[in-house]
Amino acid sequence: MKNILVTGGAGYIGSHACKALSQAGYTPVTFDNLVTGWQDAVKFGPFEQGDLLDRARLDEVFAKYEPVAVMHFAALSQVGEAMSEPGKYWSNNVTGSLTLIEAAVAAGCENFVFSSTCATYGEHDNVVLDEDTPQLPLNAYGASKRAIEDILRDFEAAHGLNHVIFRYFNVAGADPDGEVGEFHRPETHLVPLMLDAIDGKRDGLTVFGTDYDTPDGTCIRDYVHVCDLVDAHVLGLNWLEQGKDSRVFNLGTGSGFSVMEVISHSNAVTNRDVPYAIGPRRAGDCTKLVSGSVRAGEELGWSPKRSTLETMIADAWRWHQNGHYEK
Ligand code: UDP
Repeated sequence: MKNILVTGGAGYIGSHACKALSQAGYTPVTFDNLVTGWQDAVKFGPFEQGDLLDRARLDEVFAKYEPVAVMHFAALSQVGEAMSEPGKYWSNNVTGSLTLIEAAVAAGCENFVFSSTCATYGEHDNVVLDEDTPQLPLNAYGASKRAIEDILRDFEAAHGLNHVIFRYFNVAGADPDGEVGEFHRPETHLVPLMLDAIDGKRDGLTVFGTDYDTPDGTCIRDYVHVCDLVDAHVLGLNWLEQGKDSRVFNLGTGSGFSVMEVISHSNAVTNRDVPYAIGPRRAGDCTKLVSGSVRAGEELGWSPKRSTLETMIADAWRWHQNGHYEK
């Protein structure tokens, strides 16, 4: 069995990736500091608690498991927090990733799959966001991810670190088997907040701004199912194992939905109305982020299977009603 070091394997996307890796015949080794992750979510392989800033701990884990690749999910990822506490993002995301990348190179682990974000693109009017779009992030979260992409390119040139970078659009949904799902504390993401509001776990949803330049005035995002997203990571890993060149791929469906459209789909899927109020814009939000790329489909053979809003909300709702983590 081939070991894959999965940083952030106790988090939302990382835990789904661990399941996909184990189903594809790999052993996912989760490395997570449990600051935002959950030990209960580590179900598909060994768990090593540790922090990306702790080089000695990373060296120990690389020596113990001799992973053939790293999948690097661990990161702080809230746009609002990144605006008010940018230092946390530069330290945890950038310095932490640099420490991990140096440890991987020192251990001779040359295949690296990285979670980046469409937030690295920033605001581009009437431009299709493909992988060659200039990266002009509006917030420290996007800026931190862009910096890590630069580090990967430099380490490839200097040390032969082969990498696949995935720029995610908005990830939603949950494992249809209910083994893992989305559970953040505090929660800041639209879909789980909406479901919390429906069943009274919070007072209601605040829609962040209705004065954007979009048909209904609310922000437009491209939502992709977490299971489809992690399937692309297994394809990215296979790409590297086949010795192909480092590559960047957008992961989105190419369809955009406004906040109000997501709410109305939720009302239809759950048969319950989302209680909401209109609030001011959230700092750092872009008007519209929709993937304009077909590269992942053409080159990786990726085809999203569960990424309709109905399926994502239905899967998230099922998890929301039955699943949660305690520790
Ligand atoms: N959003 C909102 N109210 C909330 C949370 C999010 O209106 O309580 C909006 C947010 O402004 C954005 C979209 O929903 O336009 C998706 O936000 P989320 O935080 O889920 O993901 P992001 O786009 O920041 O990665």
